[in-house]
Amino acid sequence: METTELAEKIARGDRRALARAITLVESARPDHRAQAAEVLAALDPSRQALRIGLSGTPGVGKSTFIESFGLMLTGQGLKVAVLAVDPSSARSGGSILGDKTRMERLSRDPKAFIRPSPSQSQLGGVARRTREAIALCEGAGFDVVLIETVGVGQSETAVAEMSDLFLLLLAPAGGDELQGVKRGIMETCDMILVNKADGELRGQAIRTCSDYAGALRLLRRRPQDPDGFPKALTVSALETGGIAEAWEQMQALVRWRRDNGIWDQRRAAQAMFWFREEVRAGLLAALEEDTEIAGMLHDLQDKVASGELLPALAADRLVQRFRGTA
Ligand code: GDP
Repeated sequence: METTELAEKIARGDRRALARAITLVESARPDHRAQAAEVLAALDPSRQALRIGLSGTPGVGKSTFIESFGLMLTGQGLKVAVLAVDPSSARSGGSILGDKTRMERLSRDPKAFIRPSPSQSQLGGVARRTREAIALCEGAGFDVVLIETVGVGQSETAVAEMSDLFLLLLAPAGGDELQGVKRGIMETCDMILVNKADGELRGQAIRTCSDYAGALRLLRRRPQDPDGFPKALTVSALETGGIAEAWEQMQALVRWRRDNGIWDQRRAAQAMFWFREEVRAGLLAALEEDTEIAGMLHDLQDKVASGELLPALAADRLVQRFRGTA
């Protein structure tokens, strides 16, 4: 299929064309990448979805939540796409987030599109592919794009950097442990959802939620937030309790950010961030194509690793060599 035809089909919301274009985006083949770039360039950039990042450790209820939340949104007439960022999948020998049967009802919903995560190990590559997949979903007219990630390492930060709203899903905790949630992630997230607030776990979920609400209140107020955010709420993904309330809060936050120009600022800052990341990665790759510089790079890496050279000094040497001044 011609890329123009593919782009036209995507623009009309054709899910098979969308899936095909995402396959191009995920491919490492240069001809596929070139086609992907053509499709991306042909799409209408003014179409915007609400990008919602969702992080949480395995078992916390992400897929159950996405199914309930997604069905609620499609029930309201919204088109929902679900993408996953899972840099660990290469190690586990297949995508742990890739199992479509996890969201059985949502995957059958004509207003929903679920894409399992590609099994790639490099975060940089995964981040780029995910951003391009988001752009394709937006071009296809989706209203909400959910980006799911397991709460490990850098993938969480990367997803936060490509989301308009970033949600952290947590399980009810026993006692007063705050589940080792890192301060950084508390500062990054817009909402903490304590899941499984049902049955015997309900009381525990409510207590955990108020602990987190207390912890969030201690954070400095962020310029991108109205009073009371980031917020902690309880939900039951299984019984759908609290999910409508969570959605109302998300919409309230989005409205406030739009009214205060924060939405556009954030998107611009994120675009700049990824642009610079891409430039950095592209320059490094270009440097490594030069065998002499690649040799020097590896030599310097060894010296940095062994503590013989400070990272900044080593980088300086390489940059000077590149400029031809050393
Ligand atoms: P994920 O690994 O984060 O995607 O978690 P899953 O959605 O697969 O859920 C893990 C387990 O928790 C499953 O057995 C779910 O049925 C259960 N679970 C998920 N959400 C809830 C909830 O709201 N309440 C209760 N009681 N169990 C839940």
